[in-house]
Amino acid sequence: MYVSLIINQFIFISIPLAFTLFARIEVILNDVKEAPFCLHGPTTLFERFYFCNKSSGDNSGSHYESKRFYACSAYRDRKLCSFYCKEEDLNKHPQRSVSSHHLLLPYKTTYYKESLKSALRLCSVGKNVKYCEDCRLLIYETFHNNKYKAVTSEVIINQKHTDQHTTVNLTKETILQPSFALKPLSQDKGNAQFFFSASTCSVLLSILKQTQSNNVLCIGTPRLHGYIQREKVLSSCEVNSLLLDLDPRYKVFFPTTFCLFNMCNGHVFNSDEKKRLTSYLKVCDAVIVDPPFGALPVLVSSALRKLLESASSKFIKIFWIFPIFLTSLLQTCEPSLKPLHYRVNYDNHHVFKKRRNEDISLVRIFTNVPLKQISLADVDGYQFCRYCEIWVSQYNWHCRRCNTCTSVAGRRRYVHCSECNTCVKPHYMHCVAYLELFRKT
Ligand code: SAH
Ligand code: ZN
Ligand code: ZN
Repeated sequence: MYVSLIINQFIFISIPLAFTLFARIEVILNDVKEAPFCLHGPTTLFERFYFCNKSSGDNSGSHYESKRFYACSAYRDRKLCSFYCKEEDLNKHPQRSVSSHHLLLPYKTTYYKESLKSALRLCSVGKNVKYCEDCRLLIYETFHNNKYKAVTSEVIINQKHTDQHTTVNLTKETILQPSFALKPLSQDKGNAQFFFSASTCSVLLSILKQTQSNNVLCIGTPRLHGYIQREKVLSSCEVNSLLLDLDPRYKVFFPTTFCLFNMCNGHVFNSDEKKRLTSYLKVCDAVIVDPPFGALPVLVSSALRKLLESASSKFIKIFWIFPIFLTSLLQTCEPSLKPLHYRVNYDNHHVFKKRRNEDISLVRIFTNVPLKQISLADVDGYQFCRYCEIWVSQYNWHCRRCNTCTSVAGRRRYVHCSECNTCVKPHYMHCVAYLELFRKT
């Protein structure tokens, strides 16, 4: 279902049908300097193919027609980003940059550093500290009139926080790990914030340590970044991390370890944060990325490659969190990434969270690190396969005939079907009639 052709300077990559529903849409990766900007940075050129069934004129019969247009790289839903520009109308959109004011926070990094320090201090003396979604500030209840004000109010002159604003209660713990307190932005297509469970955070950190990754870029993984930062404070963990995410609220909590970033086009919104990222790339040795399900892997992959071009290290370890049933979609753009057997768990995902101790997640860590280098010895539910020499699910039995551990979901032992010469799910029965049907058609 995926084709990849190179035509002139453009690369056409088909998006699977599930993303398009009615018409086929292709992404055209070309020079982003050409592209107009939406609020989320440079837009992407798409080509939509329609099926036409004309019976009049010379051009009779059915055929495909296509339209090219620029649209938001991150949000395919017009409600989340309404930008749309036909390719032929490009000159009507002269701007090559747009101020993404709604995403940028108003104060300098030094302010947020101060405010974070004050908030932690106020928490430790028992003050009621909150995050205000409207002011985008850390605020606290003042002594005399039960009013809330910014934790470092001397810097803020005209801050009008009112009772109508939406606020979130904070503790010292949730200031260090804000993904536990902030309301997830959206449960579906948009930002799709699904947070790792604590055990998955600990496995990811252990994998980073095992692979000697000391400076990791956490792309779209605020829960993991918070986990690493907290470990640094509490148990002097040596791993450093920088968070790149499109959710501006994290700046308040990670003033020096956050860059507002769009992983679908590689855009960094703020010049100071761009400098921070550039200097981090000099030491960066690993990337962990957990794209929202709506983000097209081809765009994330191309943004990641461009980003890593300016890294000093030639080999950057990549850990890309992705569903196992979309392996071929990921491997069309990142063929070197192979899945570990470890099942990634989420706290707030209705499908991929751990239910009653039964681990049903189909999400895996795809990596360019040789799988043999990663041990799951300390994780419950996995065993070492001495033939494959990797860690696999405890229910996964090595098949001598396939010469691999075959159960993809890792929950049940697959059985070998000698007729088909492959392993299949245990309840499958070999059907001769079905095969006969196939041979005939
Ligand atoms: N499992 C991760 C969170 C994944 S949710 C964790 O536990 O840390 C996806 C994250 O990607 C969210 O934080 C969301 O804000 C961010 N995101 C969504 N679209 C993005 C984009 N285009 N560029 C960068 N980050 C994006
Ligand atoms: Zn407010
Ligand atoms: Zn095996």
